[in-house]
Amino acid sequence: MTLMDPGQLSAGVWDVVIAGGGNAALCAAIEAAETGAKVLILEGAPKVYRGGNSRHTRNFRCMHHGALGPLVDTYDEEEFWQDLLRVTKGETDETLARHAIRTSEQCLPWMQSHGVRFQPSLAGTLSLDRTNAFFLGGGKALVNAYYLTAEDLGVTVAYDAQVRHVAIADRRATHLDVELGGEIHTVRGRAFVLASGGFQSDLDWLARAWGPSARNFLIRGTPYNRGVVLRDMVDQGAMTVGDPTQCHAVAIDGRAPKFDGGIVTRLDCVPFSIVVNKHSQRFYDEGEDVWPKRYAIWGRLVAAQPDQVAYSIIDNRAIDLFMPSVYPPISADTIEGLAQKLGLSETALAGTVRAFNAACRPGNFHPQQLDGVATDGLDPPKTNWARPVSEPPFYAYSLRPGVTFTYLGLKVDKSARATGPDGPYDNIWSAGEMMAGSILGQGYLAGFGMTIGTVFGRIAGQEAAAHVA
Ligand SMILES: Cc1cc2nc3c(=O)[nH]c(=O)nc-3n(C[C@H](O)[C@H](O)[C@H](O)COP(=O)(O)OP(=O)(O)OC[C@H]3O[C@@H](n4cnc5c(N)ncnc54)[C@H](O)[C@@H]3O)c2cc1C
Repeated sequence: MTLMDPGQLSAGVWDVVIAGGGNAALCAAIEAAETGAKVLILEGAPKVYRGGNSRHTRNFRCMHHGALGPLVDTYDEEEFWQDLLRVTKGETDETLARHAIRTSEQCLPWMQSHGVRFQPSLAGTLSLDRTNAFFLGGGKALVNAYYLTAEDLGVTVAYDAQVRHVAIADRRATHLDVELGGEIHTVRGRAFVLASGGFQSDLDWLARAWGPSARNFLIRGTPYNRGVVLRDMVDQGAMTVGDPTQCHAVAIDGRAPKFDGGIVTRLDCVPFSIVVNKHSQRFYDEGEDVWPKRYAIWGRLVAAQPDQVAYSIIDNRAIDLFMPSVYPPISADTIEGLAQKLGLSETALAGTVRAFNAACRPGNFHPQQLDGVATDGLDPPKTNWARPVSEPPFYAYSLRPGVTFTYLGLKVDKSARATGPDGPYDNIWSAGEMMAGSILGQGYLAGFGMTIGTVFGRIAGQEAAAHVA
């Protein structure tokens, strides 16, 4: 039920109080409510924006043996683990990671039985039909289904309810200070689950971690994940994991809004393009690997360029090779004309394209696989899909770093329990982005954010309810 009267927040003691209203929070709330616990969700966003970054998602990664829901074949623990090791370069906690991987198999049927519906994965660059289960209606439908399920179970939801402080004494949380309607309310509980995401939408914090260039970053998801609860816990000595400079960032359309642009602003054109900075210089091998393996590195690469901007340039032959983004490309009949529209030096861009085209060698171009069609004698090289940019009209997309979520988080154990300066807290659990840094020390594996949130959200809810019982 939606909280109507703010006074209700402070009346009595809740069994389980949950900070956040995304996937991890909802999984925790449902698990706890199913035991009969009296559960309160404190969602910092207004109702229309409920669901944090989870509402932008499309799929989750899932271990399975044989067909499971929309998934085909088998994706076993070892292959999943190796995929994770590759992207994190070993920066992961094996115990927690394997626990998330193993438990993911039980999650899919659990999700189905709590209102989530799946669809077969799309074809083309998104053919992940063995590893990633796609939500019918996307993350928004998933979040809405969970809110309905939670409310059916008697969970109370307070919107616009910003948790400001977790009051802790002797390793035990006693209450939260919650801002609602311009006033601070004391919300008492027996157990607390902190699932309020990363800090990526606090641009000052991001700038402290990254330097001033972070102010030019775009935030792909909710503006409400400002790390307020995380900061408060850190200030009280909670143990953390992860490096504040590590985050998941991809190159997105430079015209995307500052916050909440979501998935439609992502650009998949990079492998079929040349990418230049504002001086019209190339700076990295655009053909290193196929999406989704390398797409996550481009956010960082663009972040390192002057003014944190870059331009992906393609010709007419490449325009249909990738999923279109929400904004149409900028186009012109000549490279000079394109440069003019982009505000780049015409001679510099024409020179870069000429040098690139001259370095391309004949080969069997194949957009769906690493085709080895590479440049010769060019620095940096393009090692696949190196076809001259020569057939008008020419197209360009501006690129900016789009931050998905930050990795600094609370340290938890297998039971999702958070740890303070003097050992594990008595009654504080954490789930989702807020603790994902334990498993994702660096890099990213598509779909694993929702896996971590579902696995540890459920565990946090079960543990919190068991503590209360
Ligand atoms: C565009 C985009 C696409 C993505 N696609 C995928 C995908 O397909 N698959 C995948 O696995 N991952 C994807 N991710 C990552 C995924 O969104 C996260 O890993 C996942 O949603 C984390 O869930 P969460 O519950 O921890 O956080 P969130 O869903 O972000 O929820 C955090 C909640 O906390 C609330 N909150 C914040 N501060 C406070 C406060 N002080 N008080 C009260 N409430 C507060 C927020 O309002 C929000 O409701 C994507 C992310 C983005 C941005």
